[in-house]
Amino acid sequence: MQTKILLDEEQIPKKWYNVQADLPSPLDPPLHPQTHKPVGPADLSAIFPMELIRQEVTTDRYVDIPEEVREVFRLYRPSPLYRAHRLEKALKTPAKIYYKWEGVSPAGSHKTNTSIPQAYYNMKAGIERIATETGAGQWGSAMSFATMLYDLECTVYMVRSSYTQKPYRKSMMQVWGAECIPSPSTKTKSGQAVLAKDPDTPGALGIAISEAVEDAASHSNTNYALGSVLNHVCLHQTVIGLECREQLASVDAYPDVVIGCVGGGSNFAGISFPFAGDKLVGKHKDVDILGVEPASCPSLTKGLYTYDFGDEAGYTPLMKMFTLGHDFVPPSMHAGGLRYHGDSPIVSRLVHDGVMRAVAYHQSEVFEAAQTFARAEGIIVAPETSHAVKGAIDEALACKKTGEEKTILFNCTGHGNFDMSAYDAFYSGNLVDYEYPDRLIKEALGRIPKIA
Ligand SMILES: *Cc1c(COP(=O)(O)O)cnc(C)c1O
Repeated sequence: MQTKILLDEEQIPKKWYNVQADLPSPLDPPLHPQTHKPVGPADLSAIFPMELIRQEVTTDRYVDIPEEVREVFRLYRPSPLYRAHRLEKALKTPAKIYYKWEGVSPAGSHKTNTSIPQAYYNMKAGIERIATETGAGQWGSAMSFATMLYDLECTVYMVRSSYTQKPYRKSMMQVWGAECIPSPSTKTKSGQAVLAKDPDTPGALGIAISEAVEDAASHSNTNYALGSVLNHVCLHQTVIGLECREQLASVDAYPDVVIGCVGGGSNFAGISFPFAGDKLVGKHKDVDILGVEPASCPSLTKGLYTYDFGDEAGYTPLMKMFTLGHDFVPPSMHAGGLRYHGDSPIVSRLVHDGVMRAVAYHQSEVFEAAQTFARAEGIIVAPETSHAVKGAIDEALACKKTGEEKTILFNCTGHGNFDMSAYDAFYSGNLVDYEYPDRLIKEALGRIPKIA
């Protein structure tokens, strides 16, 4: 009964897998926020290095991972794949549950898989500072770690509600040498505008993105970096799924169900795209791919599949995606990393095409699942991760009813060691299951720009 399935360092993937190569038709291009014409590389070069712009649009099936990046990956990759024997026993399920443990990275989540290559390409392009945003603080800490490795400065705009809820994430950023500012801030025009309207706003990822993009666009030595949503971020995260496929093959297994939580969609993309590719080319037509989102920010389950801005102020290109509207401010909940109004365009397209599907859960039921998982497997997961845990447990319980011995794989994206105040709220009965009334969601959807 093997519990940990490990690979050698030599088996760290040498290439990222690009699912764009296997889509039946190309993605709808991002559009310029004012002209609504497709954006070209020149439009993006003010805030991104050329190599990342190339990776954003390439339809090559594989993209080489630089050896210097693989060298840094050795600090924590390949990450272990666990067979959750104890959880299976606790649930009395005939299903086999596997989880990929990404919490082994120095920052404690999967986000270093993209912060490291992003910092690397920016350093190569001669950039001196990165401006970025962070929701729950995981991306900010992952980027601070990566910029430190390549001697870049780093400014992180952190969503205010998380800044107060999770002060230790800010301290991590300080340890690694970055500057962390609560957003909205008075440092940018977009931050000032939001504060003028609502001085007590909890902030939102869309607002923090506006601030970081504005900062990068107005300083020539500074680029912007995004921790999710974009195609190159999803591409970088495929190291997760590629390793999983190898690890499962080593025990003669292939998943029936692949599960990830969905904020902007990058970890879900990372674990699932290699399997989605197998599905698209007809190799494994039946693999079920499930994204789990919070009921308080239900972009895939209640949003529209349409063009919308990536940020609150409307600075970013318009992307075709599932969205709740760019000015939708999700209630402040504990899974701060899932509080985003939109989703990765590729994940959105695959959900729209029926290659993937999505479900939404409330925070009290996901914390319940996280507790079940911690009491069986030991790991105390991040509130974001607990959505995937809940998805996997529900799939396993469905198998108990039907007697099916499905192989369930889920992405265990990070530890919750800095999220104990959220667990405190769970134990003291202070967790509220926020859900906006459909009327408010409809109003936000009504404010999405109409693109012909
Ligand atoms: C950021 C984060 C997520 C959600 O982001 P995605 O881009 O949707 O993957 C999930 N889990 C953890 C631990 C995170 O830090």
